Amino acid sequence: MSSIADNVGTVTRRIQKATMDAGRKPGSVKLLAVSKTRPASDLREAHSAGQNAFGENYLQEALEKIDALADLPDLEWHFIGPIQSNKTRQIAEAFHWVHSVDRLKIARRLSEQRPDSLPPLNLCLQVNINEEDSKSGCVLAELPDLARECLALPNIRLRGLMAIPDPDQPEADLRASFDRLADALAALRRDNPGSDDLDTLSMGMSADLELAIEAGATWVRVGTAVFGARD
Ligand SMILES: *Cc1c(COP(=O)(O)O)cnc(C)c1O
Repeated sequence: MSSIADNVGTVTRRIQKATMDAGRKPGSVKLLAVSKTRPASDLREAHSAGQNAFGENYLQEALEKIDALADLPDLEWHFIGPIQSNKTRQIAEAFHWVHSVDRLKIARRLSEQRPDSLPPLNLCLQVNINEEDSKSGCVLAELPDLARECLALPNIRLRGLMAIPDPDQPEADLRASFDRLADALAALRRDNPGSDDLDTLSMGMSADLELAIEAGATWVRVGTAVFGARD
């Protein structure tokens, strides 16, 4: 079994190669290590290999790790799980990024509850790109209005879009799903002049990060390939 530190190196090289193969600028794709269900010691090991951005899905679990790792000065915490409105205050207080906002009510609360002492909260809108019944995310048709309203909120900084495409579809359909998210971001940039902050596509996981990078991903969210299989 390879160590977490080795895995960080392996995944980083996969990202570098895919970035180069896609003809994209070196360093334009970042690794978000998805650490749900993992103990703080695993994150510490990843950090020792140079990883500083971590994605968490469950608030209580995340807050415990944020506390346990408070001695590491350069950590960046990303919330990537479904958000209930009674959890927004703690998210607004403890995280640097939120990838999983899919309705205005949540974005408004995060903006209102973001402490004045912190920079605006980086935010991605989650899109249910394959319109699956079981998945969170807005549908593409809702995106223009939702994005426009989010851009007007003072304490969040709308950065882009996130999606979790159906992993069971054929590769050509998966590729088309990533392309649709990229096209949707391009449309938002076009329709909202001056929104230079819209630079983020959070898409691609352990199994499909190369395809996502080819389609324009800027954050790939990788759990299993960094930390091993989850129980
Ligand atoms: C768990 C999870 C991931 C990571 O998935 P892997 O297949 O383990 O790489 C990425 N994004 C989200 C939103 C997740 O919940």
